Amino acid sequence: MNFRPRSIGARIAFSYVAVLLCAMVIFMTSTAVVLYLQMRNQLGHYAVQDIETVEGLLSFAPGGSLVVNENYHNHPESKRVLDRYLEIVGMDGRILYRNQHLGVLALGGVPLPTEGAGGYSEHSTVLGDGTRVRMVSRRHTLDGRPLLLRLAYSEEPIYTAVKELLAAAALIFPLMIAVAGVVGLRMSRRTLEPVQQITRQAERITSRNLHERIPVSHTGDELDHLAEVFNQTMGRLEHSFQQLRQFTADASHELRTPLAAIRSIGEVGLQQDGSRDDYRELVGSMLEEVSRLSRLVDDLLMIARADAGAIQLRRSSTELIALTRDTIALLEPLADEKRQVLLLTTEGPVRIDADPSILRQAIINVLHNAIKYSPPGSPISIRIGRDASIAIEDTGPGIPLEHANRIFDRFYRIDSGRSRDAGGFGLGLSIARWAVQAHGGEISVSGNTFRITFPQPLIAS
Ligand code: ADP
Repeated sequence: MNFRPRSIGARIAFSYVAVLLCAMVIFMTSTAVVLYLQMRNQLGHYAVQDIETVEGLLSFAPGGSLVVNENYHNHPESKRVLDRYLEIVGMDGRILYRNQHLGVLALGGVPLPTEGAGGYSEHSTVLGDGTRVRMVSRRHTLDGRPLLLRLAYSEEPIYTAVKELLAAAALIFPLMIAVAGVVGLRMSRRTLEPVQQITRQAERITSRNLHERIPVSHTGDELDHLAEVFNQTMGRLEHSFQQLRQFTADASHELRTPLAAIRSIGEVGLQQDGSRDDYRELVGSMLEEVSRLSRLVDDLLMIARADAGAIQLRRSSTELIALTRDTIALLEPLADEKRQVLLLTTEGPVRIDADPSILRQAIINVLHNAIKYSPPGSPISIRIGRDASIAIEDTGPGIPLEHANRIFDRFYRIDSGRSRDAGGFGLGLSIARWAVQAHGGEISVSGNTFRITFPQPLIAS
């Protein structure tokens, strides 16, 4: 049977109790064994001492019978004298003496050749009445006659002591296990309380309560860390939701402007009787707004796909100068309209590992801004460095320092009136930043110069 509680707290408490139980059983078993061995040694020790004493008390009576002067009853050790079993036999096994305590029982039969030879031999044996004893044998010579002395003590007190110890353990252990189980369960529940809190919090998460946080105990333990990580995750989620809400609000706002324009142009057209040319002009204005609208939708779609990670870069070895020339060629008609000159300076060919269509989008957006926001007839310089950097500088108003960081945010415009007139939605630079960062590069602005850098060029060709 595999007993596995579902709650982690109960599992910890259960393991704790199981380990404790094993430890207690091992401890009690070894204690009982050590106790038994020590007490048995002690008995052997007494028996050896007693044999030495008995040796001095032996004598043969004039009739040839063996006499043991055991008249010890006033001696402090008399209790032990009464308890001991004493048997003295001849080497042929003939019983020469048995003390009163032993009576008709025997400690052994005919001496074995090694029994008591050359010192003391000690072992446990069982008497005829079932009493377990610890016996010591020793050979002795009295008046030239060899004898074998056997002296034993009952081992029963040892077994009684061990049984009492085990009985006490059997009484106390279940109590200790029960207390350990209850305390362990409480402790593990209390320890895991932060996990419960996180679970409850996670269950309640909706977009409306992302600002809520779970309390952090600052104990520095793993659960504290878990709570912090959870709170940080909530923080990031909250920030993302906030950005999403802002983005949706900004996008709706931007969509509303051209839609309102189309609607009012249409309404004006319906209200007045005009010539064919008037209507052509109205439809032209409407189409202008529609193309503005579709550019916005294109940008939004691109951002949505980029956010969703749906745009896969198709990287290849891309030559920066050629790519920039293509872009310049694309935008030249717009610059020509404003009589602006696009000047390209290079230090030599540079190749990077990039997706040319995505990278072109970034350069177009920055260069288009330079054309849009700098005065007619002004020069625009484009410099490509051998370190795979592109610097685009115009002579327009530039970006004031306080806007330099936010300029790349979505829908951020310094002067929204001017920007809208120029046809912008505040999305171009955010798309450019995404495109550059997708290639591991960075884009920054300082005054009139936008600078795009890439981590490292492929070997300059
Ligand atoms: P937009 O489509 O409005 O141009 P961008 O994200 O491309 O949006 O640019 C954000 C804002 O940064 C613009 O509205 C404009 O105010 C400012 N800006 C960008 N490029 C230039 C520039 N070369 N000179 C001056 N201002 C610029």
